[in-house]
Amino acid sequence: MERFNLRICLLALGLFLSSLVSVETAQSALACTAPPENPIIKTIWNKSGGPLFTAVGNPAGDMPNKISYTYSYKKTSDKDFGEWSEWIDTDTTSFEDQIEFQSSLKQGYDWVAFSANAINECGNRFLTVSRRLVSYQKLSIAKSQIAEDLPLAAGKIPIYFFSPDGYEIPQTLTSKNPGVCEFDLKAKTLELIAPGKCEVTISQNNEELQTPHPDVTRTYNILKPRALISSATKDRRDDFKGSQIHVVYVALSGVPSRGLDSRGDISNWLDLANIWMKKKLGKEFAFDTYNGSYDVSFMKSSVSAKDIAAKDLLNPKSKIKGITILDRLRNEFVKQAGSAVSKKYLLFVVDAAMSKSYCGLGQQPGRIAMATPRGDCWDPTKGYLAQIAKLNSPSATIAHELIHNTGVGHPCGQQSDLMIGSGCKLSSSPIEITLDAQRKLYVGTSKAGANILKAKFWKK
Ligand SMILES: [Zn+2]
Repeated sequence: MERFNLRICLLALGLFLSSLVSVETAQSALACTAPPENPIIKTIWNKSGGPLFTAVGNPAGDMPNKISYTYSYKKTSDKDFGEWSEWIDTDTTSFEDQIEFQSSLKQGYDWVAFSANAINECGNRFLTVSRRLVSYQKLSIAKSQIAEDLPLAAGKIPIYFFSPDGYEIPQTLTSKNPGVCEFDLKAKTLELIAPGKCEVTISQNNEELQTPHPDVTRTYNILKPRALISSATKDRRDDFKGSQIHVVYVALSGVPSRGLDSRGDISNWLDLANIWMKKKLGKEFAFDTYNGSYDVSFMKSSVSAKDIAAKDLLNPKSKIKGITILDRLRNEFVKQAGSAVSKKYLLFVVDAAMSKSYCGLGQQPGRIAMATPRGDCWDPTKGYLAQIAKLNSPSATIAHELIHNTGVGHPCGQQSDLMIGSGCKLSSSPIEITLDAQRKLYVGTSKAGANILKAKFWKK
């Protein structure tokens, strides 16, 4: 009897032990081997409010059994974020369990930060993201400042040019023509690789980001570099007869030139001015070429930058030693290259900062123009990309000054117009340049001084 009881007892103890063991086994299967990986945070902009943050456990690591979050806002007037909220805990039982925090747009605040902490028995890992405290409308990428035509020499486009309003958010950028252009996300640039069509897609819907904005596709035309010839001192044989514009690259006395001719910049500026004119007017300037390359002359001038800076060149009555700077450059060049060149339109590209208030000069009417790609007239960080919305400044200046040669002045009606200038109220922000968009100033009419369609310098 006793033995029997003991057996029962042993059996019962055995069951108890085995159940204990099984409980222990189950527990160790659930328990962690390491702290969870960083939680996965996604930022979602809905059609109202500020960004919504979500966080889930990261399946690349052990499962968290709790996710906590905290948040903070930054005042526009402050440098640092304000006080963080208390941690808010949520128990999680699967990687799908998601926590959410909806930020609200607050007057006087410009950033929100969100921190999520994934926790298990082995430890914790947390991740913090900060986002602009703006509505989804501010994230629109429909507008772009980047020029649609780019020389291959532009090299690379920093990816902030593809960000809405310069806000860095985790957009997905893809090139459809990786042989022409390809994103280097490590370097944060779009690399221009070869001439051709560069089509890129910008998406605001990915693992980290979601907005109501649809994907945007943009196309850039990467120009085939034009063959360069070394600058001569004299005009070379012409590729075509008739009126044309001869370009002279000028180094002023005491100002070393930067080789804008041999670097290809002048050639690019002329090409881009013409691509733009063709789009806006269906015409191109007849720049003097030699075997298809621009026939650019080089001239070392006796005029010093100081000479010029001392005079108010915007005043047509201002003179340097009795003649205007444009006449003086023309006379110097005729002396260097021979009197035949005086029959041509002359465009001087002067490699010196000459004034804070303008980037070029043009006779109105006449056959001499000047552009200076220095100082504020050429911003190296934007350069070909977006110096003035979609067009670079030297190309715009060249077109503007040459059109002065037809007799057109500065009609102040439309702030975006190419021919706006001194005497007009200028736009404070970059706007895309237009060319007599309503065709009532100088295209097909001469209300603003001349009808440019009748000019002699167009390519035939
Ligand atoms: Zn002007």
